[in-house]
Amino acid sequence: MMRGIRRCCPNCGAHTLFEGYTKVAPVCTNCGLELGKFRADDAPPYFTIFVVGHIVVGAALAVEQNFHPDLWVHAALWGPLTIGLSLALLPLFKGAVIGVQWAMGIRG
Ligand SMILES: [Zn+2]
Repeated sequence: MMRGIRRCCPNCGAHTLFEGYTKVAPVCTNCGLELGKFRADDAPPYFTIFVVGHIVVGAALAVEQNFHPDLWVHAALWGPLTIGLSLALLPLFKGAVIGVQWAMGIRG
């Protein structure tokens, strides 16, 4: 799981898990593991939305309760934070899910 979070092959630890942002490489060029057989499907977006939602909604409520800013401040803060956190966390969760699938022998 930790190798997947670091975007590395779960079998050998080489930095070969993704070809692009979140596109899984078909085969690890270091050890030959067929990475394309691991299908994370909807799990990474689910975990990303779950975590980002809790962070952003909690922060928005805390800021509103303590500072009562104008609505434009909320719009300026939470939209970019939501997008940035989602883009940052999605590959981490996808790598972690693939790492768990590899460890448990889940394919296809
Ligand atoms: Zn490998």
